Amino acid sequence: MVVYDLICAAEHRFEGWFPSFEGYQEQAKKGLISCPSCGSTEVEKLPHACAVHVKKETPAPRPETPAPAPALSEAEVKELLVRMNQYVRDNFENVGPRFAAEARAIYHGEKEEKPIYGSATQDERRELDDEGVPYGILPKPKLDS
Ligand SMILES: [Zn+2]
Repeated sequence: MVVYDLICAAEHRFEGWFPSFEGYQEQAKKGLISCPSCGSTEVEKLPHACAVHVKKETPAPRPETPAPAPALSEAEVKELLVRMNQYVRDNFENVGPRFAAEARAIYHGEKEEKPIYGSATQDERRELDDEGVPYGILPKPKLDS
């Protein structure tokens, strides 16, 4: 296997794994290499690519490096939750207990898309999950002080 550093027309850099240099050339010629960020097939190999040879024919797993979560104090977390709740109240339409029905209608295109919030029972949430209707759960800050 060979790894090449590639760059697309929009200057996104990414890695491509190929069986060999010839394999790379062939895929590039057929326009089979596309940028994972924008999908562009105008891709070039960076001149100073580092080639890595690995024994296996399968690509090595890419290391998952999640961005380190910023450490928040309890007070900061609380403030964030308060702000999130405030934001939702200010910008989303409150549909109350009709949330599940509204979310489903929007998901199926029966209603115009709009930001909504409301309440749903556990059963309703399970139904939404089953249907693949996306929604988020907004944690309520404890407002004891
Ligand atoms: Zn790109």
